Amino acid sequence: MAVKDLFERLKERPGPLGRFARQLHGYYAFPQLEGPIGNRMYFRGKEVIVWSINNYLGLANHPEVRETDAKAAAEWGLAYPMGARMMTGETKYHIQLENELAEFVKRPAGLLLNYGYQGIMSIIPALLDRRDVVIYDAESHASIVDGVHLHKGKRMAYPHNDIEALEKQLKRAVEHVKRTGGAILVVTEGVFGMSGNQGRLKEIVALKEKYPFRLLIDDAHGFGTMGPTGAGTDEEQGVQEGVDLYFATFAKAMASIGAFIAGPPEVINYLRYNIRSQIFAKSLPLPIVIGNLKRLELLRSKPELREKLWQVVRSLQSGLKEFGFNIGTTSSPVTPVYLSGSMEEAAGLVADLRENYGIFVSGVMYPVIPKGQIILRLIPTAVHTQEDIDETLKAFSEVREKLATKYYVKEPVVTFNV
Ligand code: PMP
Repeated sequence: MAVKDLFERLKERPGPLGRFARQLHGYYAFPQLEGPIGNRMYFRGKEVIVWSINNYLGLANHPEVRETDAKAAAEWGLAYPMGARMMTGETKYHIQLENELAEFVKRPAGLLLNYGYQGIMSIIPALLDRRDVVIYDAESHASIVDGVHLHKGKRMAYPHNDIEALEKQLKRAVEHVKRTGGAILVVTEGVFGMSGNQGRLKEIVALKEKYPFRLLIDDAHGFGTMGPTGAGTDEEQGVQEGVDLYFATFAKAMASIGAFIAGPPEVINYLRYNIRSQIFAKSLPLPIVIGNLKRLELLRSKPELREKLWQVVRSLQSGLKEFGFNIGTTSSPVTPVYLSGSMEEAAGLVADLRENYGIFVSGVMYPVIPKGQIILRLIPTAVHTQEDIDETLKAFSEVREKLATKYYVKEPVVTFNV
């Protein structure tokens, strides 16, 4: 068989999304939002209400945050410290941040991670060896799925939040590790980022009475938003003690970069010496660490930010329901609006919202979800206003009407100069 040139092959097979790059690029994919991060920004020169940014508590542009970021950048620059933490990149601020994070989520120890994605992806294989079994929710974020695929032993998925199916997998896993001498790890999310469903942590924790396993949760969307103190979805469900390892990223409520994992000191120290994505990568720059300390302080000391977020969440979600929209089973700020239509109709509707109604939402469509479905995914934040919600509800009603009368089939999709 003739040997193919790799780059020629990539042209022939651009990937499930890459296939549509020409139609998507610069508008649906890689759009440029301009202006300060907030409820209203600019897209292609026009003001839009933005429902696509995980700035849950509005910290991205909080004056104290901005001041701390700027001062830390002026004092330390982006270089400091150089090297991986294990070698030359350790500072007292890194240690302080992980200690404060651990205390906040009521765990004895914490470990900072440079990015959520590489962090969780690397935690899973660091914890496990080939004798072990990892069991995970089938709707888990790509970073978990990729971590699971780095595990050299057995992996088992269970349908999203299906506790009976999880129990069946646990039974199989127990039989397997009896033969191999291995152990079992269950991984799920606190809040699922697409549906807004909470992971059924309480029920999973209850299964620990019957089966020997450890539980790791990725609470990217729950940290800072869920629970009486904002400590996360396990706090919300009253099961902090049953969740053995708690992971969250700073990319959402903290409006920053980085992530952390918290749990028993011996496990955290084990990870410190065994997690390849951190051992072989440069330490987080100090302006980011110091900026994260500030964000954590605000998150703890200003519960009014979380209260404001939830006020907006309740108003948006109840408004959507009153207007007859299907928002599924969300029990978190993540707010999906389920519609039906073709990919072309979805594209037309999202463009219509952006161009003619001044509303920027992300549309999720085929090939990410099955053909015929459209999900508009809204992320309410503490800086949204009732006016933003009212305008959005009105616009959504109008575009739903257009969708029903096949307007987006008849009218050509807005054409873009990209
Ligand atoms: N886990 C989940 C559940 C996420 O939603 C994300 C996306 N931010 C990540 C991990 C990756 O985090 P980061 O952006 O910090 O790499």
